[in-house]
Amino acid sequence: MKDMFRKVSLRTVAQVAIVSVVAYLSASHMLRGVEQAAPIDAYCPLGAVESFFTLVFKGEFLKRVFMSSFILLIVFLVATLVLGRVFCGWFCPLGAVQEWMRTLGRKFGIRKDVEIPEKFDRYFRYVKYVVLAVIVYYSFSLGDLVFRAYDPYNALMHFGNEFAEKPIGYTILAVLIVGSLFSKSLWCRYFCPLGAFFGLVKKVGFFRIRRDASTCVGCARCDKNCPANLKIATADVIDSADCVSCGKCVGNCPKGSLGYTVFGKRVSKGRYAMLVAIVVVLPLVVLPFTPLWKTKPESNIVNVRGEVNVADIRGSNTLEYVIETTGVPFDAFHKELGLPKDTDLKLKLKDVGSTYNLKNAEGSVLETEDFRAVVLRHIPK
Ligand code: SF4
Ligand code: SF4
Repeated sequence: MKDMFRKVSLRTVAQVAIVSVVAYLSASHMLRGVEQAAPIDAYCPLGAVESFFTLVFKGEFLKRVFMSSFILLIVFLVATLVLGRVFCGWFCPLGAVQEWMRTLGRKFGIRKDVEIPEKFDRYFRYVKYVVLAVIVYYSFSLGDLVFRAYDPYNALMHFGNEFAEKPIGYTILAVLIVGSLFSKSLWCRYFCPLGAFFGLVKKVGFFRIRRDASTCVGCARCDKNCPANLKIATADVIDSADCVSCGKCVGNCPKGSLGYTVFGKRVSKGRYAMLVAIVVVLPLVVLPFTPLWKTKPESNIVNVRGEVNVADIRGSNTLEYVIETTGVPFDAFHKELGLPKDTDLKLKLKDVGSTYNLKNAEGSVLETEDFRAVVLRHIPK
């Protein structure tokens, strides 16, 4: 038993914890609705990367991005400078899932990684920087989180919901989950825009892994265990932007020839984990309890200038909330949509039609769009 616990690394504990927390937050949003629980976008630093230029030049956040995303970005920026891509190696749910799928693949007997030829791999790794540039540009120019519909992480955390809105995101997720049975972290190495961002930060940071050639026996266990498929056994310093600070090479080296260095000084595995706790875990435990941490706006329907944005009314909004925030009386919905006088105002808009078997003018069950139309007709112009 003691041995089993010794085998479970702190990194694995962090990965399991973060996947559980994020899955809980996401399920909570889907079950309780946007009024009670923030969408998953509020807990991802990618939103802040996408929203950065909008905040600087227009002074506002993109929809679904709030202070929480920026706080996460700042924490992980500092962490990346000091400890490398610790977000990817320790705290990214999608990174963890890919890693676990590869472990599962090995258990199924797929021992050898299926890889694209090395000469293509070198160039293919640059694709993620192009993806990052395109996303940042279009998010700013179109004023929206343009990547959301394609993002496999977003799809993963919707557990099959909103399939019609993001079929491409779900397709990418399915491909990379199946692909990860055969190959290491495909999404991370070639396509992930957040990985690309942290890779660029890591390049100018102070974290490296160094190999002591005098004790190394060339067994290449480090290469085999590296999720980024880097060539470690023949390098003196591993300073690749693709290193995700997982420490698998260090942990699997039989000769202790590999070590972490921070600001040029060698740091033991235990001390590195302690630094992760201080630089990442501690701020993430404390900051959500401060007034700085905001995961959603005062209202998802009314903006900071007090204007009602009808298009922002969501199916997960309750009728009560729509009436309160827009000032449109229940009577308007009763008369125009045929809602019974004793309608349960706590119902979400998307459930009202099916609960009372109400149809719109086209003969289909009442939809959120029907409620938007009523609000639009009644709010002061
Ligand atoms: S590269 Fe992207 S998907 Fe992979 S661990 Fe990093 S942020 Fe997560
Ligand atoms: S695992 Fe250690 S001993 Fe083996 S090749 Fe890598 S650095 Fe050398």
